[in-house]
Amino acid sequence: NIPDVSHFSSLDNKRLIESDKAHYMHGYHAFDEHRQHGSLNITQGDDAYIRDAQGQQYLDAVGGMWCTNIGLAREEMAQAIAEQTRQLAYSNSFCDMANDRAIQLSEKLAELAPGDLDRVFLTTGGSTAVDTAIRLVHYYQNCRGKHEKKQIITRINAYHGSTYLTMSLGGKQADRPEEFDFLTDGIHHLSCPNFYRAPEGVNEAEFLEGLVAEFENKILEIGPERVGAFLAEPIMGSGGVIIPPAGYHRRMWEVCQRHDVLYISDEVVTSFGRLGHFFASEAEFDIQPDIITTAKGLTSGYQPLGACIFSERIWEVIAEPGAGRCFSHGFTYSGHPVACAAALKNIEILEREALLPRAREVGRYFEQRLRTLEDLPIVGEVRARCFMACVEFVADKTTRTLFPEALNIGEWVHLRAQKRGLLVRPIVHLNVMSPALTLTHEQVDFVVDVLRESILETLEDLRAAGHW
Ligand code: PMP
Repeated sequence: NIPDVSHFSSLDNKRLIESDKAHYMHGYHAFDEHRQHGSLNITQGDDAYIRDAQGQQYLDAVGGMWCTNIGLAREEMAQAIAEQTRQLAYSNSFCDMANDRAIQLSEKLAELAPGDLDRVFLTTGGSTAVDTAIRLVHYYQNCRGKHEKKQIITRINAYHGSTYLTMSLGGKQADRPEEFDFLTDGIHHLSCPNFYRAPEGVNEAEFLEGLVAEFENKILEIGPERVGAFLAEPIMGSGGVIIPPAGYHRRMWEVCQRHDVLYISDEVVTSFGRLGHFFASEAEFDIQPDIITTAKGLTSGYQPLGACIFSERIWEVIAEPGAGRCFSHGFTYSGHPVACAAALKNIEILEREALLPRAREVGRYFEQRLRTLEDLPIVGEVRARCFMACVEFVADKTTRTLFPEALNIGEWVHLRAQKRGLLVRPIVHLNVMSPALTLTHEQVDFVVDVLRESILETLEDLRAAGHW
């Protein structure tokens, strides 16, 4: 139980909720829903739990937003952040300016990242890390004199951020073309490696061959001399925890090697323990990317921070001695000393408490327990790897037909779980989860038991409303 230190009376909170409606536009919040239902005002957090302004406590299986890896309310983190704030709250990192914490963090990231990924550019979050990676690819190709080699290949249903460029890279624009004029110039999309949605009669090995062939054909169609990089999440997160067929990343990486195409692994979600390792690319998927982007678990959400980590091979080209170049790129808050201090302390805690091997062990239990939900009549598939998980709801298990999108089935289950003290993240027909890595076996049981009860109640309510 989190001790309730809320200083809001319920009257205060009512006023705040009205003020939220009047002034605060949240990302991805449907306007009509916001107007009608307001927001859940979260006022406290402790480890894997959060509490709202009404005093209701929830196990936060969303993990903030894939990010509260070490759990909330760590006194050591508060101290590290306070001490750094007192010592040096800000310093810019342009030109010849640096600070102790940014230097120490870059050294640590170079040590933790696989292979020769020894060069670090610090950013403000995941979107700016991916944006930096794309600028780096363009810059690298220009420095090599390969001015045409800048086309980027990515996948449908991916998520790489919310700036115009990174959202366009994600390939979700096909869903709502009327909303934005997404960038299409220089961006190409491949199929999503979701075997659950593979054509009828195709086995996993054939599915994999098809995906690899599609990639190679796409490079040949564009022309290898024009393709700069391939960008992929090891496991697609917001796209619905899509775990690709075994060997997929290795095979895609080999295609990159054959055509001198850089491999960018977007580990904004999958790093810092979420898959049981500091970085998943090499440890889980047997690849040596040229660039890794990270954020979220890098500070466990205690401060906003991201990083683009890249290889010596790229560095040697762009920083060729005597070439007189400079990378004209940077953010006011790149290398922010307080954010870097938080990241350093976060990494220290992950190491000292051996949270990564622990995540691998409890993560296996989480996977197994969640899969037991597959016996329920509207659970099409449970996809889970370590501390990334997702339940996909279907109206028909045999045909895998989805419920109508407007029904928002994920929200039905989410609201019934919320009543029982569990938060999961609804994305249309999905419930997505990424809790703190500190979760115990008992807490895993709680998550799965509450989900089962909530899905059963949803079933009854769907029947009563004539939807099922
Ligand atoms: N890449 C991936 C794989 C992500 O999941 C996200 C955020 N969910 C981003 C990039 C963007 O990160 P941010 O929201 O910190 O900009």
